[in-house]
Amino acid sequence: MSKLLATQIQKLPKVELHSHLEGCIQPDLVRAIAARNKISLKEGLFTSDNEFAWNNFAEFLQAYDAASFCLRKPQDYRDIMYTYLQQCAAEGTIYAETFISPDHAAAVGMSYADMLSGCVEGINDAERDFGIVGRLIVSCIRHLGPDQALKVAQHLVAHLHPYIVGFGMGGNESMFTQADFAQAFNTASAAGLACTTHAGEILGPESVWDAINNLPVTRIGHGVRSIEDPHLMAELAKRDIALEVCPGSNIALSVYPDLASHPLNRILKAGISISLNADDAPFFATTVGSEYQSGAKDFGLDLEQLRDISRMAMQASFADADTKIRLLAVIG
Ligand SMILES: [Zn+2]
Repeated sequence: MSKLLATQIQKLPKVELHSHLEGCIQPDLVRAIAARNKISLKEGLFTSDNEFAWNNFAEFLQAYDAASFCLRKPQDYRDIMYTYLQQCAAEGTIYAETFISPDHAAAVGMSYADMLSGCVEGINDAERDFGIVGRLIVSCIRHLGPDQALKVAQHLVAHLHPYIVGFGMGGNESMFTQADFAQAFNTASAAGLACTTHAGEILGPESVWDAINNLPVTRIGHGVRSIEDPHLMAELAKRDIALEVCPGSNIALSVYPDLASHPLNRILKAGISISLNADDAPFFATTVGSEYQSGAKDFGLDLEQLRDISRMAMQASFADADTKIRLLAVIG
């Protein structure tokens, strides 16, 4: 790939729709927050290269939980949100939606209101300093079950905020079905929130069918394994359901052995709307900027195809119509 193209991609306006706030915390910030909250971090959390140390999915979840365990105050959430958006903006990102998890905050004794106020401050400060627009998707955790998810959704709709634009679900795909969460999603949707859910990542196309047949979703987190079912691919294109594709995450978590096996190009050819995302950037040693660079280097996409991806992502975002129009004009 030429240096010129790399520079052009660096400058290209980007949109990230799939990142988890607790998964965006950089090792140095984990250390700083743990120190000021007087929390000792578990041994072996970092490698000698100052990256998170993990070798398999279980260890990844442990590292993720250990990093989020040190969060205690609104300021902590403010600092993660601000730092994450600062890094995104430095790579040309103009709009980012981030999953926030009230259950993770509750696990360390923080209220939803405190978590939200920190996130809102981080978003405001980042927009003031870097011009990037940040928005939030409140996420329930699948393995905590449908009753807890419904509680999260009900609390959310009773305490709406203009920066919260969606409702989503992450967590262990092997527990429960998507349909089990219909009440939680319908509650959020009835309050005007757009919806997305993780599917077709660890599990196959049947999990995506389960989501689109039972939940009011307009996007799917990952969804890459839809490629295994041509009927599903046609249905996603027909219903204009967008996939939040995270190739680096898929390789890190062994969904595919290498990028050459990754279906990104086949998904694009099928006319399905996609975005390119980092998922949990510091854990997977990636960023949204690297995912765009990889789009050219590993998938052979040219600048205009990458610009198309930014356009598709902005269209599929949960931003209000005015923000979409304004930022689509920036993408060009
Ligand atoms: Zn994710």
